[in-house]
Amino acid sequence: MHLPLHDDPRPPQTTYTAGGGKPLGLGSLSGAHRCDVAIVGGGIAGCSAALHAAEAGARVVLLEAHQIGWGASGRNAGHVPPATKHDPDQVIARYGAEAGQRLIDAAEQGPPLLAELIERHRIDCDYSVPGIIMAAHTEAAMRANEKRVAYWQARGRPVELLDRRQAAEMIGSEYYLGGWIDRRGGKINPLAYVRGLARAAIEAGASLHEATRATRLARNGGKWRLTTSQGEVEADRVFLCTNAYTDDLWPGLRATIVPVRAYQFASRPLRDNVRKSILPGGQPMTDSRRLLSGIRIHGDGRLQFGGQGPAFGPQGAPHWRATRARLERIFPQLGNLETDFWWTGFMAMNADNSWHIHELAPGLLAMLGCNGRGVALATLWGRELARHAAGAPARDFVLPPSQPRRLWLHPVARPLVSALIQYYALRDAIEIRRLERQVRPVP
Ligand SMILES: Cc1cc2nc3c(=O)[nH]c(=O)nc-3n(C[C@H](O)[C@H](O)[C@H](O)COP(=O)(O)OP(=O)(O)OC[C@H]3O[C@@H](n4cnc5c(N)ncnc54)[C@H](O)[C@@H]3O)c2cc1C
Repeated sequence: MHLPLHDDPRPPQTTYTAGGGKPLGLGSLSGAHRCDVAIVGGGIAGCSAALHAAEAGARVVLLEAHQIGWGASGRNAGHVPPATKHDPDQVIARYGAEAGQRLIDAAEQGPPLLAELIERHRIDCDYSVPGIIMAAHTEAAMRANEKRVAYWQARGRPVELLDRRQAAEMIGSEYYLGGWIDRRGGKINPLAYVRGLARAAIEAGASLHEATRATRLARNGGKWRLTTSQGEVEADRVFLCTNAYTDDLWPGLRATIVPVRAYQFASRPLRDNVRKSILPGGQPMTDSRRLLSGIRIHGDGRLQFGGQGPAFGPQGAPHWRATRARLERIFPQLGNLETDFWWTGFMAMNADNSWHIHELAPGLLAMLGCNGRGVALATLWGRELARHAAGAPARDFVLPPSQPRRLWLHPVARPLVSALIQYYALRDAIEIRRLERQVRPVP
C-alpha cells in the first residue's frame, strides 16, 4: 500500500494556485526508456536536479506520481531564508570548521541562486527579497537573536536587531518583545517556481512525466531499472527526491524520516487599511514559538498563516478556531477573520533537523529530511545531485553523503511526535501567557 497518510491525488487549492501559472499537463511514462539519470519525485529537489543535470548534458528522465509540485514544494509557506535550520556555530560544531563553513556559505547563496534561476529561465513566480522578520516571544529568544545578529553583522551582512518598538512597526503588532530582520531573505510563489523549474528542465532536454509512480527499483547488471505501471526506465544513476512522501521504493528509506503534517490558511482579502497595517514592508515573518507562526500578506490582500497542526491522521478539519484566536491576539485589528481556503502538506522531520544526501548503493542517491526548510535548500541540493551525476567526487559535495540512519523509534513515531507536539504546544502556551501578562502597549 502506498502512503496511507497522504491525501487527495489532486493538487490542493492554495493561495498559489491563481498565480501559479498553468499546470504542466505532462503525459505519463509508457514503454521502455534509457537515460543517464533517472529522478523520482517532481518537487523542487527533483526538478532542480533534472534541470542542472540536463544542462550539464545528461539524458534525464523524471517520474512524478501526481503532478509537478504536488508535494511540499507546491504547498509550503513560500519563505526563502538564507540559512539552514541551525545557527552557524551549531553547523560548525557538527560538520567541522571547513565543511561547516562551506555549508553556511552555500545556504546563504540560496536566495541569490533562486534569483539567478528565475531570471535566466524567465520564471514568473512573484519572487522578491524584502527580508524576513523573526519575532521573539521570550527573553531567551531575544538573547538568541542578539547572538545571531552579532554573528552576521560581524561579517557585514544586512541583518538588524529589532527592539520592541521597531518590531511593532515592522510587524504591525505590539505582541512581541522584539525580533530581528534578515534582509537577505525572500518570499516566493513556490508552486509557480517549481513549475518554472520543471519547464526549464524540459527546455534543457529532460523528459518529465506526471501521474507516474515508480513502483520498483532494482539493479540490473551495471544499471538501475525503475518500473512504473506502464513502462520502465534504465539508468546509470537514480536520484530519489521524494522527501516526506517517500514510500517503500527503497527498503528502509521511509524509516529515516517522520512525515509531519502542517496546515496553511489563506484569509479573504483584508480591508485595505488593515492590510496596510500588517507587515507593511512586505516581509514574511515567523516567530520563536516551538510551533511557530508563519505569516505573510499576498499582493491581493490575503493573509497566509501557518501554525503547526496535528501531526498525523487523515486530512480533517484543521484547528481553525485555535488558529484564528492566535492570529487575532497578534493582530487585534483583523476583526472578524474569514478563510477562503486551507490546505496541508507534509514535511520530513528527522532526529538532527537536517537535510541528508544518502548514497544508498553505487549510483543511487536519496535526498531528504527537509524539516520545513527547503525552497532554497532543495534547489541547492538538487544542483549538488546534478554535480554528482556529472562526476564530481562525493568529497566535493557541500552536503556530504551520509549513511541512512533508520530512526529506531520509527514504529512508534506517530504517537511520539503527536505527544511531542502536545508538549510543545503546552510549553508555548505557558510562555505566551507570561508574554501576555508582561507586555504593555508600546509607549
Ligand atoms: C506546510 C509547509 C510549509 C513549508 N514552508 C516552507 C517555507 O516557508 N520555506 C521553506 O524553505 N520550506 C518550507 N517548507 C519545506 C519545503 O516545502 C520542502 O523542504 C520542499 O518543498 C521539499 O521539496 P522536495 O522536492 O524535496 O519534496 P516534495 O516537494 O515533497 O516532492 C516529493 C515528490 O515525490 C513524489 N513521489 C513520492 N514517491 C514517489 C514515487 N514512488 N514515484 C514518483 N513520485 C513520487 C511525490 O508525489 C512528491 O510530489 C514547508 C513545507 C510544508 C509542508
